[in-house]
Amino acid sequence: MVRIGSHVSFSDKGLLNAANEAVSYGSGTFMIYTGAPQNTRRKPIQEQYIDEGRAVMAEHGIGEIIVHAPYIVNLGSYKDDTYELAVRFLQEEIRRTDYLGVKQIVLHPGAYTDKDADYGVARIAEGLNEVLEGVKDTNVHIALETMAGKGTEIGRSFEELASIMEQVERNDRLTVCLDTCHVNDAGYDIVNNLDGVLDHFDRTVGLDRLAVIHLNDSKNPRGAAKDRHAPVGAGWLGFKTMYNVVHHDQLKHLPFILETPWIGKDSTSQRPMYEAEIALLSDTVKQRFGDGFLSDVEKLAHFFKKQELDPRQFVLSTWELLKNDAKAKKADGREPMERLYDLIAAESLFPELSEEQVNQRLTAWFAGEHVLTAV
Ligand SMILES: [Zn+2]
Repeated sequence: MVRIGSHVSFSDKGLLNAANEAVSYGSGTFMIYTGAPQNTRRKPIQEQYIDEGRAVMAEHGIGEIIVHAPYIVNLGSYKDDTYELAVRFLQEEIRRTDYLGVKQIVLHPGAYTDKDADYGVARIAEGLNEVLEGVKDTNVHIALETMAGKGTEIGRSFEELASIMEQVERNDRLTVCLDTCHVNDAGYDIVNNLDGVLDHFDRTVGLDRLAVIHLNDSKNPRGAAKDRHAPVGAGWLGFKTMYNVVHHDQLKHLPFILETPWIGKDSTSQRPMYEAEIALLSDTVKQRFGDGFLSDVEKLAHFFKKQELDPRQFVLSTWELLKNDAKAKKADGREPMERLYDLIAAESLFPELSEEQVNQRLTAWFAGEHVLTAV
């Protein structure tokens, strides 16, 4: 059974909160930030309902989970205060992760800002050496994340990750988190050549280093160097590619973490598609949502087929329009799922369903024949 989960909230009652949220989506794993990802303020980890959270996890068969380090720390910085804050904070964060009993903390390697990539790689390695020296007594691995290559971020190529590792003494403590959106945006063709990309990864970094997969679709075409996540099926990767990643022989044993955007016309009532995404990618739609759900998806398929609207074509042409035609974007900036939702709402196809429920069916429709035949 593949283990798929999402980023969940660690606020309020900490691990208890996170575990309950993960269970509500039918997750087999999950990922937390120990506090706000954009700052370094943290509550004492001892007060984060760890025993209570662990009990909920055990009851629902959730074992391994992941911590993500805040993305504001930058080990690649040439500024001493920024660099030292990153080292110190990461050490504290690793101690919190260890206290939680979590084995992997995902880290964005860093950015070289005004210097160059070689400087960035060397500085990050220096920082990791310092970090690891101070936390020798813990069992935590730092999972360097593959990055999209926006701005000056390091980690946009497997070679960059490999050279960081080469320069880190205790590199047995380093692993990798592969983000499907980021590698696409960095130029790797996982849509047409997943095997080739994994082969390349194996030759440069080593597949045995791979510890986590971030499962995100992308709002941008391959090589765009952007890093904007899309819901599964609503981006350039598409459902089939995401499904192939989850069920690939060399990947299927890993924890898969969704960081896909929440969907809804009103930003205050947006909902995640995690529950539908997890069920679709793990072939548990029928168990999770029931037969009625599947007949709704069929109804949706007929509705769009009558309009000769193909999901993949629609999604890609909408992203292309939004990217290349500023005037059209200004006139109508709606993203693909929003446009499709509006088409459904205009015909009041499902008058009894909430916006979230309609969007879950849309997500399933992206999976196409797969969802209708796999049951
Ligand atoms: Zn990340």
